[in-house]
Amino acid sequence: MHAIQVSELGGPEVLQYTEVPDPVIGPGQVLVDTEAIGINFIDTYIRSGVYQTVPPYIPGAEGSGVVSAVGSEVTGIRVGDRIAWAAGPGSYAEKVAVDAAVAVPVPDGVEPPVAASALLQGMTAHYLIESVYKPEAGETVLVHAGSGGVGLILTQLAAARGVRVITTVSTDEKEALSREAGATEVLRYGEDLADRVRALTGGEGVAAVYDGVGKDTFDASLASLRIRGMLALFGGASGQVPPFDLQRLNSGGSLFITRPTLVHYTRDRAELLWRAGDIMNAIASGALRVRVGATYPLADAERAHRDLESRNTTGSIVLLP
Ligand code: NDP
Repeated sequence: MHAIQVSELGGPEVLQYTEVPDPVIGPGQVLVDTEAIGINFIDTYIRSGVYQTVPPYIPGAEGSGVVSAVGSEVTGIRVGDRIAWAAGPGSYAEKVAVDAAVAVPVPDGVEPPVAASALLQGMTAHYLIESVYKPEAGETVLVHAGSGGVGLILTQLAAARGVRVITTVSTDEKEALSREAGATEVLRYGEDLADRVRALTGGEGVAAVYDGVGKDTFDASLASLRIRGMLALFGGASGQVPPFDLQRLNSGGSLFITRPTLVHYTRDRAELLWRAGDIMNAIASGALRVRVGATYPLADAERAHRDLESRNTTGSIVLLP
């Protein structure tokens, strides 16, 4: 089969399109003919060595496709089923061996590029707003990178429950997309960001900041919170946040901060199916729109990573095998 392989960690150029042996499934796994592959920011962190990964490896964790073989000990999945997954190592490939434990059924009417890119970002938005800080109707929150994959979904989920959403974006095109998703105020990044957020909240600050940008926004995020507000630092698209003095939480107003990650919010099959089901059903019913901002042939993974890292994407982006 064809796949992307990384033989040494580095820039996007290490994503090499190549031929490799088909994966062999073990007990508890299914083999999938991939229809579409989700690209996530974490794929760039792993490729560049932010996380400890030993090459060679096939990148990616997310996709959708049709089951072509079922391993022993698998129940409830049959050949021909359409599934999606957000925790399937080696997903930048024409075939993927997926643990049945992380497979999610794809409802009729959800197209492969959407199915392949909705779960990881969708379940992230879901746990942030359901389980990290659950804002009430009328409360105000700040979402950074409002036109990104997580940002667009999180904004829709929050707005749908009557929460006022302020976002940040870098361009006019991204602003339009963020407003369409339900943001009522869309700001540009900059030194006075926290002052502008405070001005929009009568000086009080927001109940929560959902920050996936990290290094460049961290200080403004903390300074934008109301007393006892929550900073959910869930990523570092601009770089990782350096160590900081806990005393700042005291002087900032008895603030909370957490650095959550999806795997700890999908701890068992029931929790995974709750979050995935909410997202897939909302898409199937039309209540949630997942924007696939761009698709690329699998062979062009390098270009896709360059676009993602240089802020040239909106919504989710997808590889097609
Ligand atoms: P996005 O589609 O949001 O892409 C990243 C966006 O971040 C860019 O489009 C850009 O939007 C913004 N950004 C701001 N500064 C920079 C910079 N210096 N370089 C690049 N981008 C920048 O990606 P995802 O939706 O895939 O992920 C968003 C964040 O969520 C990432 O940090 C990711 O790691 C994190 N994440 C965390 C998870 C978890 O469980 N902890 C799970 C999934 C994602 P703009 O131009 O408008 O600023």
